[in-house]
Amino acid sequence: MSQRSDIITIDGPSGSGKSTLSRLLAAELGYTYLDTGAMYRAVGLQVKNRRIDLKDDRSLNELLTGLELELLPGGGDSVVILNGRDVSRAIRSAEMGMMASRVSGKSLVRERLTALQRQMAARGRVVAEGRDTGTVVFPTARCKFFLEAAAEERARRRTEQLRQQGMSADYDDILAQIKKRDADDSGRKLAPLQPAADALLIDCTKMDIPAVLNLMLSRVSAAAG
Ligand code: C5P
Repeated sequence: MSQRSDIITIDGPSGSGKSTLSRLLAAELGYTYLDTGAMYRAVGLQVKNRRIDLKDDRSLNELLTGLELELLPGGGDSVVILNGRDVSRAIRSAEMGMMASRVSGKSLVRERLTALQRQMAARGRVVAEGRDTGTVVFPTARCKFFLEAAAEERARRRTEQLRQQGMSADYDDILAQIKKRDADDSGRKLAPLQPAADALLIDCTKMDIPAVLNLMLSRVSAAAG
């Protein structure tokens, strides 16, 4: 694994602002952005396309063994290449968010993606975002953040974001999905969504992006000193 000083983790529930802040923080520091949620989404897409039953460990294992996943920097979200095909747009739907949440409860999936994430971060200087990056994937990261925000505010932001991307989005459906994903992600046995003991908790309900970014930057520079 990379040196402790090379990794910053940002975890939190969906819609808390993790992706935007991870990208901005990575750009500000000249680090690589590692979107671990995109990886779970890509596996979810593959499971759906191949119509794999999640109880069928053999088929799932085959899928994971043959999994070739690349994350490339994009203008906004990372460009995600799954077995040679650009799936960046296909993985961003609300349906793939739910699929990602379902596959993420499987130990086979978590083991494979955790190993891949460590491999991707081996060159160092990474801002990793997800649910378990500070607790499980990079427990010795130099700086850890956990972002929170009220579910209603997160649903409002996610609805707006999907509409801006030209996708249809209904606020009530999204709020229900966010609450379900929160419950599933926090309640699962494997790598549940929870702050690392040494993470800085930031409630983003009322803070704007520049304010959170400034707070993170000051924490990162304090940790460097
Ligand atoms: O962050 P994003 O919404 O793209 O994540 C999709 C889903 O993938 C999450 O709801 C969660 O179930 C799963 N996930 C995870 N561990 C991570 C990142 C994402 O379980 N490190």
